[in-house]
Amino acid sequence: MQIHRLSVEEALKALGTGDQGLSEAEAASRLREFGSNELHAAERIPVLAMLGRQCTHFLALLLWAAAALAFVADWMKPGEGMDLLAWAIIGVIGVNALFSFVQEYKAERAIIALRRLLPMRVKVVRTGQISEVSASDLAPGDLTILAEGDRVPADGRVIAAVQFRVDNAPLTGESIPKSRISEAAIEGPLVESANIVFAGTTVLSGTARVVIFATGMNTEFGKIAHLTSGIEAEMSPLQQEIRKVTRLIAAISMGIGVAFFGLGILSGRSFWENFVFAVGLLVANVPEGLLPTVTLALAVGGQRMAKRKALMKNLAAVETLGCATVICTDKTGTLTENRMAVTRIYIHGREIRVSGGSVTTEAGESVAPELLRQWAPLFAIAVGCNNASRRHDEDGPGAAFVGDPTEIALLQCAGAVLPDGPDVSPRIGEFPFDADRKRMTTIHAAASAGRVAYVKGAPEAVLPICGSIFVDGRALPLREVDRAAIVDRLNAFTGSALRVLALAYRELPEAAKLSSMEETERDLTFAGLMAMFDPPRPEVAEAVARCKRAGIKPIMITGDNSRTALAIARTVGMVRNEKAPVLEGAQIERMRDEELKGALAGSEILFARMTPMQKMRVVTLLKEMGEVVAVTGDGVNDAPALKKADIGIAMGIAGTDVAKEAADIVLLDDNFATIVNAVEEGRAVYENIRKFVTYILASNIPEIVPYLASVVFRIPLLLTIVQILAVDLGTDMLPALGLGAEPPDATTMDRPPRSRDERLLNTRLLARSYLFLGPIEAAAAMTAGLWYLGYNGWEWGIDLSATSPLYRQATTVTFAAIVVCQVVNVYACRSQRVSVLSMGLFTNRLIVWGIAVELMILGVIVYSRMGHRIFGTDAFPGEFWWLLIGCAALLLLVEEARKGIVRRLDPVKGLRYQEGTV
Ligand code: ATP
Repeated sequence: MQIHRLSVEEALKALGTGDQGLSEAEAASRLREFGSNELHAAERIPVLAMLGRQCTHFLALLLWAAAALAFVADWMKPGEGMDLLAWAIIGVIGVNALFSFVQEYKAERAIIALRRLLPMRVKVVRTGQISEVSASDLAPGDLTILAEGDRVPADGRVIAAVQFRVDNAPLTGESIPKSRISEAAIEGPLVESANIVFAGTTVLSGTARVVIFATGMNTEFGKIAHLTSGIEAEMSPLQQEIRKVTRLIAAISMGIGVAFFGLGILSGRSFWENFVFAVGLLVANVPEGLLPTVTLALAVGGQRMAKRKALMKNLAAVETLGCATVICTDKTGTLTENRMAVTRIYIHGREIRVSGGSVTTEAGESVAPELLRQWAPLFAIAVGCNNASRRHDEDGPGAAFVGDPTEIALLQCAGAVLPDGPDVSPRIGEFPFDADRKRMTTIHAAASAGRVAYVKGAPEAVLPICGSIFVDGRALPLREVDRAAIVDRLNAFTGSALRVLALAYRELPEAAKLSSMEETERDLTFAGLMAMFDPPRPEVAEAVARCKRAGIKPIMITGDNSRTALAIARTVGMVRNEKAPVLEGAQIERMRDEELKGALAGSEILFARMTPMQKMRVVTLLKEMGEVVAVTGDGVNDAPALKKADIGIAMGIAGTDVAKEAADIVLLDDNFATIVNAVEEGRAVYENIRKFVTYILASNIPEIVPYLASVVFRIPLLLTIVQILAVDLGTDMLPALGLGAEPPDATTMDRPPRSRDERLLNTRLLARSYLFLGPIEAAAAMTAGLWYLGYNGWEWGIDLSATSPLYRQATTVTFAAIVVCQVVNVYACRSQRVSVLSMGLFTNRLIVWGIAVELMILGVIVYSRMGHRIFGTDAFPGEFWWLLIGCAALLLLVEEARKGIVRRLDPVKGLRYQEGTV
């Protein structure tokens, strides 16, 4: 198709549409015909490759080598059961690979599901009405309206454009802003045409109307085949650490294996017997399932955050969020509801109040309609210099408007004050709003000859370029007294937490050049101030308090006026100190980095009238100061700060697509409280990973000790390799997953943030599992096994055959002792310091299920014939269970005593556990 060569009218006709867009029915039928506007390839998970990876990683290769050696051994010396060992090892590789695969697959699925939650909405014109639809519902022929920060949803031909520039980097790789116009191209291919926009690219500035000609996989972006997966494959620091730790443990176990091998040879065991033990130790020690379990814990954490309306875009964000020390947040929409309503209007010496459709003077009297009509130019600016629109088919208040809440408030106010609406002539040009200039201008053909420019924006950005003032229908020179009166009123408005816009106009000669912003935005006539109230979100005050308790400093960085900002900051408790510094953008421009760092080090600070660049500087300095910074943003210009921050947070509702793409987290409800909830989940995920690592590592000790004891004390080996595998890959697995799903406990947000440099496996964790829980379990298991032997007449020095019932029963008792201890251990590991009893036994259902399955496996291994054959076990008399339960009770008692001492030594943090506390 040569759509770029056609004129606008011809292009619309060629696509079977017009300047009113398609009808809803036609759009629906085209959607059925062409399919939804989505890229399918992005969501396929490479299952085979993933499975293959699980069987070929470093540890798996090690095990393959061991299996091969065992086969060789069997070939050289048949009949010693080496082939069985080889098969057992291969079985281990298989079970491991499957387990890891299932976890990874689940994690990937979770991430894809999360991605789908990301709302991608576009503005379309259908039957002349502007509405918002999901990007996937776009069909060829649809008219869409694109504005700064939007991601282009499908390939389209521009039919009208104002200062419209796009970034084609996602498609072409070169990141140069490109202007886009509506005129037909005379030559050149479609892909290079200046009137075409492509799916996946972004709008850098301006606005445009675009008619869609290709959607989904038919777009240029869909055609390029590199879309294997939309998921970020990068490993988070935690995953990298886990990988390193697993390798380290593997190396250590290999070392131990070799050492024991030597020890075994010295103690006179046969080569092959020793070989089997060495392999067994390796398998016992290497926490094969750790990495996938951690990945899954992070993904599940991500899902839990999504339930609380914070969408993680990568797993690293889940853990980094738990270390956040500073949250830089903007005000409008995040701390406040972004539900604005104009409440007060100022126009030359007079103020009127607007409330629920009634218009009164300051004294509460009604305002004469003539006066309001005289003020019509103010409302003409409010309506003309405005990109929000109203849908005519709905009359409900609020719901029927589309656009920026600030602009919607102005439309609603104009509608309430002047029911017939002000006269606004057609718009012929626009200099769009941007957060640096803090104002916006539209140019209209005036009713009389000439043109008129309407300007609205922050008073600080508009007043300085005003030369006259609108008084009783005329423009008079703006005197110092007028300026002082305006500033006075402005201060009164902002002091009551109102957000204020100044409105102004300028009559332009017909011949005025429209292309120059500087030329247009000068010598304005000040028309008035409109002040709107944007209520703080009710839940924010509590969230700010929790944030402070959790040792995280909230800093407001807003584009709004400093008094408005301060008033809101006080309401939500962000600033309590009377002397807290409030710095404005212009002020920090004059400050040196060191000075600014000094100010940032204080406990409370607030930034107002900031530009995105200045926000970026604050973020950079905070990072230099060693803080872990989370920062919110919504505009295109916020993207660098979002990228620079440790955690970039974009607004899901008010944010632009560019901001969402640059961010690590998208807030589905734009709410500050959601950030704090997500921090809590982030902390909990990390804690949970620690819990299950402690649990898994603890059982390594009772797995090694029987072997050590058999070598050193020359007693029968009380736990066989297959039994070790049964613990590691059977009974331990599910309860560990249960620990990964623990809800945050009540103290999660009463602790300061964890340092980012803190290792997962710190000395405390290792000491608890390897020097405390593990040895107790080992002592219990050894005592139980030896007791059983002794009870049945065994004495030191008597050799037991591996097939004798007594030997098999003794190993079964040892095995059962470890499993029963692990049941208690899983409860012990639910908290470092809170008593098991105060947490409730059934509060984590996954753990309860995990234990049920664990006990079932134990039952099968102890009592079933099949269990006996595979695991070399034999049933032991029932009364010995009492001994095992006694061992577990002992573990519980000692651990409770330890927790009690910890709580006594450090009582502040020893709060009670509350189930599912948030
Ligand atoms: P925050 O940064 O906390 O979200 P904000 O919305 O006030 O607050 P910006 O979006 O950077 O921050 O806007 C800066 C200022 O520009 C606003 O305080 C307001 O005075 C002015 N402004 C905002 N929206 C518009 C608009 N659509 N047209 C003209 N001026 C605007």
